Amino acid sequence: MEKIGIVGAGFSGSVIARELAERGYQVDIFDTRPHVAGNCHTDRDAKSGVMLHVYGPHIFHTSNERVWDYVRRFDRFMPFINRVKAHARGKVFSLPINLMTINQLFGKQFSPEQARSFLAEQADQRIVEPRSFEEQALRFVGREIYETFFRGYTRKQWGMEPSDLPASILKRLPVRFNYDDNYYASKFQGIPEHGYSYIVERILDHANIELHLSTSFTRAQAKDYAHVFYSGPIDAWFGFSEGRLGYRTLDFEVLRGDGDYQGNPVINYCDENVPWTRVAEHKHFTPWEEHEKTVLYREHSRLCGEADTPYYPIRLVNDKARLERYVTMAITEPHVTFVGRLGTYRYLDMHITIGEALEAAERFVNARELDEAV
Ligand code: UDP
Repeated sequence: MEKIGIVGAGFSGSVIARELAERGYQVDIFDTRPHVAGNCHTDRDAKSGVMLHVYGPHIFHTSNERVWDYVRRFDRFMPFINRVKAHARGKVFSLPINLMTINQLFGKQFSPEQARSFLAEQADQRIVEPRSFEEQALRFVGREIYETFFRGYTRKQWGMEPSDLPASILKRLPVRFNYDDNYYASKFQGIPEHGYSYIVERILDHANIELHLSTSFTRAQAKDYAHVFYSGPIDAWFGFSEGRLGYRTLDFEVLRGDGDYQGNPVINYCDENVPWTRVAEHKHFTPWEEHEKTVLYREHSRLCGEADTPYYPIRLVNDKARLERYVTMAITEPHVTFVGRLGTYRYLDMHITIGEALEAAERFVNARELDEAV
């Protein structure tokens, strides 16, 4: 059977590896890091035993039944609903923006209908087609909510004016006219009992898969394989010939202590005079476990340098033009498929990555079967 090379042992690469291995392909999978699961990596903290989301909080949610069934083959998903709080202007608020947030901020007791008409009055009706993050916010939630929850946080997170950012970033967040404070609107939600790295290790646990950690893979090695699936940064594959695609990276300031520090997994800090964007208290991601000690990550966002870990694709106009040139090159690259967040330079949640990986593997297998038939 043909030999397949896979670059990156995150969800993209690992799911494709497993799908192909189950269909009889021999798979070599490479990752430069000493662990699997990419930025979803989880690890037990040596001092406290708390499960750490090493590259920041990951809460699994999806409405895709196929993906939900798939991940649950590899670990038990424990019930978990992401409920985020916000510190802003000296108070604590409920997120995402819901009836509680609106009533708290404006000191009201609005019903859903009253809140809806109130926000419609606050909204800037002159903006018909919002072209930026700022316009999107002013159009749908009005200036007061925008300036309290979004302007400062977004300037810290993206290092840019919200008027220069695409509206699509804000569209990720719902606005609710009821008291539902579930951060996600997905049908299924949970956190794996043993963590994401455990899941990926189990996905890769197959006789046809050989895992090579702490090992880089160069473009020249592609010739050793019938096909390569590449989930690393697309610009790196082409030696950055068209310039670098812009990313934000995160720095985590780690705090340790006893007991319960903030009483919630994630609290956002929306004021600009607080340097961090949010604080995650990791033991609250495993509410089924008991821990005396606690570990917190204060998250600081900055522009990603050459030696840093890329997190969020910035996708400004110049990035998109550059990306188009790389995509043109990628199409003509023989026997290489570019997948995942870094391979396609898109912000992707875990469930989307997994869904796309299942489809990529399926497309590959179908095309091969078709080739054999003719
Ligand atoms: N955002 C904000 N204030 C908040 C939460 C989010 O301004 O309290 C904005 C910010 O620009 C962020 C975007 O909404 O990048 C999407 O938020 P989300 O919580 O999805 O970000 P993630 O968890 O993916 O970092």
